Amino acid sequence: MEEIKALVGRHPDRLTMETITTGNKDYSAEILVVTYGRGRREIDNSSKFRILLSFGQHGRELITSELALRLLSILSEEQSLPSMDPICLNNTLEKLVIKVVPMENLNGRKLVEAGDLCERRNGRGVDLNRNWSVDWGKKEKDYDPYEENPGTAPLSEPETQIMRKLSKSFEPHIWVNVHSGMEALFMPYDHRNTTPDGLVSHIMRSMLEELNHLHCQDRCLVGSGGGSVGYLAHGTATDYMYDIVKVPLAFTFEIYGDGAASSKDCFRMFNPIDMTTFNRVLNDWSASFLTLFEMGRHQLDGIPLKASTSNLDKLVSIDQYLDGYLMARSSRYGKKMEVIELGMQEIRTYFRLFLLSSVLLLFMFCSRISKSKCSKQIVSAIPL
Ligand SMILES: [Zn+2]
Repeated sequence: MEEIKALVGRHPDRLTMETITTGNKDYSAEILVVTYGRGRREIDNSSKFRILLSFGQHGRELITSELALRLLSILSEEQSLPSMDPICLNNTLEKLVIKVVPMENLNGRKLVEAGDLCERRNGRGVDLNRNWSVDWGKKEKDYDPYEENPGTAPLSEPETQIMRKLSKSFEPHIWVNVHSGMEALFMPYDHRNTTPDGLVSHIMRSMLEELNHLHCQDRCLVGSGGGSVGYLAHGTATDYMYDIVKVPLAFTFEIYGDGAASSKDCFRMFNPIDMTTFNRVLNDWSASFLTLFEMGRHQLDGIPLKASTSNLDKLVSIDQYLDGYLMARSSRYGKKMEVIELGMQEIRTYFRLFLLSSVLLLFMFCSRISKSKCSKQIVSAIPL
C-alpha cells in the first residue's frame, strides 16, 4: 500500500487517490481507491469507458494486491509489457477511467500478515464475497461456516457498503473481482450453474475465451462461477454487480493457484513462492487486463445498455427492495446506521418452522377427528 501511495504521488497527472472509511458496531473499515485517467477527468468521467477493479477481497490471496501494484505501475508507464504495442495501448488508455481498489479487505490482510495465513474473511470473521444481497445467506450442503460466514445481514459489512456505494456512483462498464486459488475467468452467475441469457452474456463469454487463449495458454476455466468451479456461491460481489448495479461486463478472475500444495499450506495454495512464477503471473495478468479493456470498449460500442424498458424490469426484486431500504436507512441515520438486525436467513428459518408446526398441528387435529368419526371412510378412499 505504501508503494501504491508513492506511485500515485509520482504521477499526479494520471493517478489520484481517496480513502473511504465507514463502520458499525465498533468495527470500522477503510478502503483506498486509486483512479487512473488522463485529462480533466472530473469533468468527463461520464463520457469515458469506466472500469472498476477490486483486489484483495480475501486476506490470504496476497498475490492479487501485487497485481494491482503492477497494473498501476504499467498504467503510469514506470513499467512496461514487452507484449503490448505502446501506440495501440496509448489509444485505448486515453478513453478510459479506471478505479482500482488494491486491497478491499485491509483488516483481513492485517490478520494474515500477523501470521494467520489461512484467513480469508474480514476483521470480524465475515466473508466479503458472501455478504452481498443477491441470493444472500443460502447455504449449500458443503457450507463451511468458518470460510463462508455471510454476516448477520446482506450488506452488513462496512467493506461491502463502501464497495457498493462506489459502484453505484461510478457506474462501471467493466467490473473485475480479482482472486486467487485457481486459474479461471468467471462470469455470472455464482449462485446458479448457468450464465445469463442475451447478447451481452454471449459477448462476455467470447471475451473470456479469447483472454484464456491469449494470456492463459488455455489453462483457465471459463464460464459461470457457479457452473465451473464445482460449487455454488451465494451473495457474491460479481452477481450483485451484474444483477443490481447492472454492470454489463462483470467478471471474477482467479489468477493463480497451486493445486498440489498441502491444504494446510495456505500461503502456497494461494500465492507463488518463487520470483519467476511471481513475475510470470503479474505480467500475464496485466496483459490480460489491458486486452480486456481494449476488447470491452470495442465490444460494447453501439450496444444499448440499461435501455430495457420491459415490464419485467419494473418489477422490484427482493434484493432491490432491500437495497432501497438499506439506502434509505443509511441516509436517515448516517454513520450510526445498523442494517437489519435479524438476517433474512433467520427470518426464513423461523417462517419455515412456523409453517412446519402449523402443518403438524393440522395433521394431529385431523387424525384425531378421523379416528373418532370417519377413519374407515378415509382409509378406503386412499388408492394404493
Ligand atoms: Zn478469494
